[in-house]
Amino acid sequence: MIAVKHIIALGAATLFAFTAWSGNAKAANGACPGELPERTLSLSQANITRFGTLQKLPPLPLEKGEYVLSFDDGPRKTTTPKILDELRAACLHATFFMVGREATKFPFVARAVAEAGHSIGSHSFSHKRLKDIPHEEALLEMKLGQAAVQWAVFRTRSTPVRLFRFPENAATPDLMEAAARFDMIVASYDVSPEDWRGDAPQNSLRRLRQRLNTVDRGVIVMHDVKDNTVLLLPMVLDELKARGAKIVHLVE
Ligand SMILES: [Zn+2]
Repeated sequence: MIAVKHIIALGAATLFAFTAWSGNAKAANGACPGELPERTLSLSQANITRFGTLQKLPPLPLEKGEYVLSFDDGPRKTTTPKILDELRAACLHATFFMVGREATKFPFVARAVAEAGHSIGSHSFSHKRLKDIPHEEALLEMKLGQAAVQWAVFRTRSTPVRLFRFPENAATPDLMEAAARFDMIVASYDVSPEDWRGDAPQNSLRRLRQRLNTVDRGVIVMHDVKDNTVLLLPMVLDELKARGAKIVHLVE
């Protein structure tokens, strides 16, 4: 199974510069010396349909020092493959909450994310603040975003993408109810280095450190559409390593 996954990943690799995939050999050998340990958490097995304290939802059932990596707003042709490369070299898996419109623009990048073994979520169709627009339009944003991501990544309507993150966590009770009706898993987060600001990665790292000092487990959000996040990610992984953290890979 693992071998098949790597063959698929290598096939997708032809879409990108060969050097961008150099980390793959290390992953294929099953050796990531000194890297962060990882375990998997199945949301459906744990009966979890909503989580993330920054949207005032319940926290995930994590142990102290366990963190989930998540990336929002992509895919982007230039930056997302570099984030994938870094994760591959570290043998780690994240969840990517894609904007439907962007997934439609760059379906080959969207597919490469899934083929590398990461989990997929949707993040609306065009990243509007859903609580600030008419309810019917917000529902359409949710449904269209999900369908666009699903189609771009899996090329089929029969593989549901249940994970959903509200842009800016901006939900209403009615929209939360709609998400439940659509069988979505509402995924917020607990720790943000605010890399969306696009300032120096050192600033994002400083903010992350401060937050990790008080939040000893949870979901970290970053943005794979930002150039500075490509520089930030290895710093984040080093910081988590130094804290003896463990990565948790969420699966539906
Ligand atoms: Zn976003």
